[in-house]
Amino acid sequence: MAFKPADKIQDLQYFGEFGGVNPSISDSSTYTFLSAKSMADTFEGNTEGCYLYSRHSSPSNLYLGEALAQMEGTESANVSATGMGAIAPAILQLCKAGDHIVASRTIYGGTYAFLKNFTPRYNIETTFVDITNLEQVENSITENTKFIYCESVSNPLLEVADLSKLTEIAKKHNLKLLVDNTFSPLSITPSQLGADVVFHSLTKFINGSSDTMGGVTCATKEFIDLLRDVNDGANMLLGPALDSLRAASILKNLRTLHIRIKQHSKNALYLAEKFENDGLRVVYPGLKSHKDHELFKSQMNEEFGFGGMLTLDAGSLEKANALMELMQERNLGYLAVSLGFYKTLFSAPGTSTSSEIPEDEQAAMGLSEGLIRISIGLDNDIERTYQMMRNCMNELGVL
Ligand SMILES: *Cc1c(COP(=O)(O)O)cnc(C)c1O
Repeated sequence: MAFKPADKIQDLQYFGEFGGVNPSISDSSTYTFLSAKSMADTFEGNTEGCYLYSRHSSPSNLYLGEALAQMEGTESANVSATGMGAIAPAILQLCKAGDHIVASRTIYGGTYAFLKNFTPRYNIETTFVDITNLEQVENSITENTKFIYCESVSNPLLEVADLSKLTEIAKKHNLKLLVDNTFSPLSITPSQLGADVVFHSLTKFINGSSDTMGGVTCATKEFIDLLRDVNDGANMLLGPALDSLRAASILKNLRTLHIRIKQHSKNALYLAEKFENDGLRVVYPGLKSHKDHELFKSQMNEEFGFGGMLTLDAGSLEKANALMELMQERNLGYLAVSLGFYKTLFSAPGTSTSSEIPEDEQAAMGLSEGLIRISIGLDNDIERTYQMMRNCMNELGVL
């Protein structure tokens, strides 16, 4: 039976403390205990039903976590202050010195930098692979490998990971599969395809208004409890806790995610098809010309479409920059990193979000200089947007 993530969110019923239609926001960093004994029990890890201190958990954060666990079909979830504040602690929780990771080479620049530059200091080594080459993935596994890490739809090249096949490989070698699903919330549900841990940067589509940061780790209750453990939990001890006010505002935005994703997907598909017809090099998983189109289709929750991200190649960095500046001037969007906003956002990944990746490696992975990554907004009249974008391209000789 098809997994229905939007229904799962809709079915959550939370009453506020005074009968409000939204759950009350916990405006406290610390919590009282009615007896000293229950405080001691809580420190020993028996935290069921008790709040201790907001770095550990708070009612607002638990509400948001529960909603995201429902959306991702996992037992539990832990929210954090940023996406990196979810990803980095989970990686550190799973690894000790001497361990090894197999990771996709086309991942978010921050995650790439963390695995390439930061974790080696603690003697945790990562082999970066072409995640679409399953043979290479399997051959990179060593006896020290702890997990396979990838993004369901990769940044910025929009390659699609075959999560079912990666799960098979992971299971065969007794590894976990960790998936960052930031680019494809609702469209893809990695846990239903076998992923063990699913991350999101809530900063992007899930919050959708580019006014706050947030992150989440969705996994088994056992793993989430480990992350929060007062004695050796990476989220508890590294401290990337989300503020309750923000957790509450993100939860409210999550309630409209399904409508937004459908509109992002509809707009992105429209533009991708038009620009491809015009002869531009467009990468969008919803296009039949995308090499992973069929794979995306086979993994998706169909009603949500192929997502709001596309890339197009302006030919050179100069043209890409000129086009982005002109599109911003004409109010078609903002020249800004990030994604999932109600207005269109564009950036040239080679010199921005993926600049951590050395130039020769960028070339090897097909990240060309003139590439523009576009997060398509919620434009009501996408045909009008297309005409205006086309005019910009014509004026600059991109088309
Ligand atoms: C933005 C992003 C992150 C990091 O999230 P922050 O909220 O910025 O810390 C991780 N993965 C992907 C795919 C992202 O786009």
